[in-house]
Amino acid sequence: MKAAVFNEPGKPLSIEDYKDPKCGNNELILKVQQCGICGTDLHASEGGPLQPPPGTILGHEFSGEIVEIGKNLKSSWKIGDPAVSLPFIACGTCQYCINGNPFFCSNSQTTGMGDIQGGYAEYVRIGLPESIKIPKGVTWDFATLVEPLAVGLHGVRISKFKQGHNVLVIGAGPIGLSTIQWLRFFGARHIVVTEVSKERKVMAEKMGATNIIDGKTPSEELINMYRKETGGSPDIIYECVGSPNVIQNCMEIAPPFSEIVLIGVCDKPDTFFPFLGSTKELTLKFSIAYLKDDFQFTLDMMEQGRMNPSSMITQQIGLESLPKTFELLKNDKSQCKVMICPGH
Ligand SMILES: [Zn+2]
Ligand SMILES: [Zn+2]
Repeated sequence: MKAAVFNEPGKPLSIEDYKDPKCGNNELILKVQQCGICGTDLHASEGGPLQPPPGTILGHEFSGEIVEIGKNLKSSWKIGDPAVSLPFIACGTCQYCINGNPFFCSNSQTTGMGDIQGGYAEYVRIGLPESIKIPKGVTWDFATLVEPLAVGLHGVRISKFKQGHNVLVIGAGPIGLSTIQWLRFFGARHIVVTEVSKERKVMAEKMGATNIIDGKTPSEELINMYRKETGGSPDIIYECVGSPNVIQNCMEIAPPFSEIVLIGVCDKPDTFFPFLGSTKELTLKFSIAYLKDDFQFTLDMMEQGRMNPSSMITQQIGLESLPKTFELLKNDKSQCKVMICPGH
């Protein structure tokens, strides 16, 4: 098959002929219809603790059609079924797996990050317990957005959010935009968003932000602007950037007893002033990935027409153009989701 392969940090991905994935007994093979480019892929390919080994096919936001079914599977899957999958193949039998939380399985292998080859290719191998059929009426575009939407959904679901809360979302990249859409869905009162890119400010507004504040605004000024816009202060701050100093900034902005939910993934050491958190009795809540139910819920809401994320897709490209586009995206913050269509 054709695949875009990561070989070395700082070098563009290369289009290579790669061996087709082998279907394990409890696995399925998906012919990739679309795969989203994730900020994590861009970041990981530049080196650091998240860097995958040479020879890795990245891509963990994929949808496709079942083309092969493992020997042991007397399941309801048929050749040609449209499917998405959580980007893991886990044991399927431990307590985490049974609860639909394969991220925490101690035998979990991740897809598109080094263990299992990812979706920047024509075919990808997926596990039975992690796979979900795409309901009729849900387009490939939408199905491919389930993964980033599930990240935002998970962050909102594990927070103390209640309908009518006032919130602040830091950053309107794909994860911030996904979080904004769920906060609107679940009935947040004021959704104030901070962002630096003017394109992303526009997208945030389209997806449910009630106010946009420039991302460079100092904490003290931001608190005043928030009060002016909403008459109060945020009950919850959703941090969707994932870079050093952001926790400290959130803690400065946060009012007493509020919660800071860290959805952005930061892989660098960071410092904050704990005494500040003590004097406000703040809660820091970390969020990672999603449960299988976060995927299922997102698909169900799409099927019912209650979640329409189409404006998240800003570009669709063929596999051949991926290496060039991938390099451009490292510096271009005007895009939201760029989708690869390997069949084109
Ligand atoms: Zn991702
Ligand atoms: Zn397990």
